[in-house]
Amino acid sequence: CGIIGIVGTEPVAPRLVDALKRLEYRGYDSAGVATLEDGVLARCRAEGKLVNLEKRLDSEPLDGLIGIGHTRWATHGAPTERNAHPHATGKLAIVHNGIIENFAELRAALEADGYEFQTDTDTEAVAQLVTRSLDKGKTPVEAVREALPQLKGAFALAFLFTGEEDLLIAARKGSPLAIGYGDGEMFLGSDAIALAPFTDTVTYLDDGDWAVLTRKSATVYDENGAVVSRAIQKSAGTA
Ligand code: GLU
Repeated sequence: CGIIGIVGTEPVAPRLVDALKRLEYRGYDSAGVATLEDGVLARCRAEGKLVNLEKRLDSEPLDGLIGIGHTRWATHGAPTERNAHPHATGKLAIVHNGIIENFAELRAALEADGYEFQTDTDTEAVAQLVTRSLDKGKTPVEAVREALPQLKGAFALAFLFTGEEDLLIAARKGSPLAIGYGDGEMFLGSDAIALAPFTDTVTYLDDGDWAVLTRKSATVYDENGAVVSRAIQKSAGTA
């Protein structure tokens, strides 16, 4: 339902939660964040309201300067902690808005290949699909590039990768997603309102676009993999 991503210069977990609060008006049933602590994925998720997630984070804080967060409105799989985003494999974490319509076929093929699913969500099929490409030696960018044409349905996606402290990858088809430009920081949000505390300089991805973010760069590709330039706008929202 709501997505936020930050590759930044300050502790990221509180910022992710603040951004998710600004997306609360959309409604949700669970929430979660994932960060990289010295390159290692760390995750915290909770059923129900963001206050539950905040309580968890108070007792078990997450370090790190890069991370992704999500408020979920369940479409596939009950609204439990186990099914809450971010979903993680050993190699990546992912948040997703929308529906992957062909998740059952993808899941069957991945399970036949030995990939073990941990959740009942459509989203995990994307996590495992990209992980399989990484296992075959692809880079994160290659792995996402290979996975996207295999997905049917509507999605906004954000990926965080083990050991990649300066990389977020995003994609959109049918669900909105914006890049926010900071000062030596880069942001992702399903809505400019989520980005308003951090920046008023945003680029809305076009349908089919995907993007590679580092602290100092944002490269947008279209559905065919060509680098494209999308207008940079000043958002009306203020912090
Ligand atoms: N289809 C996904 C799920 O049920 C994402 C739902 C959403 O947009 O929050 O987990």
